[in-house]
Amino acid sequence: MTTGRVQARITFLGTGTSTGVPMIGCACAVCTSSDPRDQRLRPSIFVDVPDRIRILVDTTPDLRQQALTHGITRIDAILFTHGHADHVLGLDEVRRFNHLQRAAIPCYADRTAWDTIRRTFYYVFDGIPRLGGGVPRIDAHDVTGPVVLGGVRVVPIPLWHGELPILGYRFGSFAYLTDCNRLDDAAWALVDGVETLVIDALRDKPHTTHFTVAEALEVIARIGPRQAWLTHMAHDLGAAATNARLPAGVELAYDGLVLDVAVDVD
Ligand SMILES: [Zn+2]
Ligand SMILES: [Zn+2]
Ligand SMILES: [Zn+2]
Repeated sequence: MTTGRVQARITFLGTGTSTGVPMIGCACAVCTSSDPRDQRLRPSIFVDVPDRIRILVDTTPDLRQQALTHGITRIDAILFTHGHADHVLGLDEVRRFNHLQRAAIPCYADRTAWDTIRRTFYYVFDGIPRLGGGVPRIDAHDVTGPVVLGGVRVVPIPLWHGELPILGYRFGSFAYLTDCNRLDDAAWALVDGVETLVIDALRDKPHTTHFTVAEALEVIARIGPRQAWLTHMAHDLGAAATNARLPAGVELAYDGLVLDVAVDVD
């Protein structure tokens, strides 16, 4: 095994806020836009490190559709950012991967997220045998610091999502910071040197648990990545109009966006 950096491919499976875009019952310009970048599933990325590991970040309610769209037929590990519905409700789809891979899937989350996931998916954890379709088989691991998955080093970044402590994840030169509106000193230190940054930007109007576009731009300016991508967008932000007013090196991410990045391997 080589120590250093190898290339990985990041696919954005979803870049929308919790409702998705278009929203049910909304006829606004973005929800009715014909621009494919304005159609956003719930937020998730897939990290493919060739010959090493394929990592899914969050199991959204759209996971089945996301896997079919992007031809995802194997998941070696799942990282959870937090326990909110838009990030976990697709956990049951893991059954299909258990069947294909004939194995349980290692899943990583912090204690706060596990508390929520265990209550939401009581039937996965209560140990009661069930007839019929079965339950997803997962190996639950607590994230308390950096982990090495398939030789790839993953560094959890503590983030504040309103009053909820959640996790972003850094893979070498790349960091994924969804669902946040504040970084503390520990987080700033851990994102130093990130070259490709993904960060939450819900809309322009202030929100109690998500960065606005302007707030996200302040974070980007302080970190100074080569390229930054905004995610978790609501229907307030049309792709064409928003990109036209963003500074160079910053764009809205969109479903299906693929990035080649360098990740750390041990
Ligand atoms: Zn969310
Ligand atoms: Zn709308
Ligand atoms: Zn959330």
